[in-house]
Amino acid sequence: MADAPITQDVLTIPRKLPEGPVNLVGLTRPQLRDVLIAHGTPEKQAKMRVGQIWQWIYQWGVRDFDAMTNLSKVYRAALAEKFVIEIPEVVSKQVSVDGTRKWLVRIAGGHEVEVVYIPEEDRGTLCVSSQVGCTLTCSFCHTGTQKLVRNLTSAEIVGQVMMARDDLDEWPVPGAPKDETRLLSNIVLMGMGEPLYNFENVRDAMKIAMDEEGIQLSRRRITLSTSGVVPEIERTANEIGCQLAVSFHATTDDVRNKLVPINKRWNIEALLEALKAYPRGRNSERITFEYVMLDGVNDTDADAHRLVKLLEGIPAKVNLIPFNEWPGAPYKRSSNNRIRAFANIIYNAGYASPIRTPRGEDILAACGQLKSATERARKSRKEIAAEAGLNG
Ligand code: SAH
Ligand code: SF4
Repeated sequence: MADAPITQDVLTIPRKLPEGPVNLVGLTRPQLRDVLIAHGTPEKQAKMRVGQIWQWIYQWGVRDFDAMTNLSKVYRAALAEKFVIEIPEVVSKQVSVDGTRKWLVRIAGGHEVEVVYIPEEDRGTLCVSSQVGCTLTCSFCHTGTQKLVRNLTSAEIVGQVMMARDDLDEWPVPGAPKDETRLLSNIVLMGMGEPLYNFENVRDAMKIAMDEEGIQLSRRRITLSTSGVVPEIERTANEIGCQLAVSFHATTDDVRNKLVPINKRWNIEALLEALKAYPRGRNSERITFEYVMLDGVNDTDADAHRLVKLLEGIPAKVNLIPFNEWPGAPYKRSSNNRIRAFANIIYNAGYASPIRTPRGEDILAACGQLKSATERARKSRKEIAAEAGLNG
């Protein structure tokens, strides 16, 4: 049962468009090599050309072939004829009083997803979306009430990182620092969608983000959050190698079935087994257990003690997320005292148990709020169109 194929109703658009210019963004190195050769680059030169074009796109943020000055004019013109360098288009941008930025970006087909940048003292984290909506229906998550439209392509996923670097004006100049002092130093796959239901595209995009000749983020600075797609967890370790977070949220199967319905497919025991096997590069690399604090549902002392027991044998930290309410949500946020008491039990058992500070609440950028903002933006554009007499 556990390794039965995952079937779900997701539309994945082909990675290579059948006609028109090919977008070079999002291709892996071997794919880039193949398309260059298919369009006339001599095989002998292909490796070198891949390296050059790759660096222009991912290291320097260049979108215009004509700016690729180490390529001949003739070759640049040929590239411009056959290829494009395209990332999602920014529809709107909001900046919170706390500095959090949220962009609504438009992808092929007119769909929209949200991207959030959270500046902190020692890092800047970009929260990236992997799907339009989500096929899963976690009962506390607003994204889960949105019907899935489709998986994002690798170009649209890594394109969110490139878009943010544009907006932060952070394409490096030679000799610029690599990690710590960057504005965009970390990526979390915690936006809209279940990344492990879009595995290949997420993997390819993150490989590009980690590439030493490109965006150069360390695998330790990329965290993928899953609701618990057990068969893909081992693949995440083998094929991406990033940090893992898991939306745990409950300590009994009864409660978890209600909160995170994928638990009916892979229950707590199966999930923990997969997490125990998740390899670590170093001791400091722990699995993050995300735990949303829902008043009267999963927040008792007994839950905290059960959680500690379940964590046994897993290098873990627990990230407590105060529930972010949305219109019509069937839950309430636990009180601050309750959250602190819960955190203390976990902390006293020897696990870090930070309470996630909601960021960007004023612009609806906090965890689980991402759908509402999209819909609002849609509606207001419709209203604008109506006011302008453009009815459709
Ligand atoms: N689909 C993936 C990643 C996106 S959600 C996953 O479920 O892990 C990122 C985190 O926000 C998850 O832990 C999710 O459970 C949590 N979340 C969703 N809705 C929330 C809400 N309304 N309040 C607080 N956290 C929420
Ligand atoms: Fe999907 Fe994650 Fe929301 Fe669950 S919490 S509905 S898996 S986005």
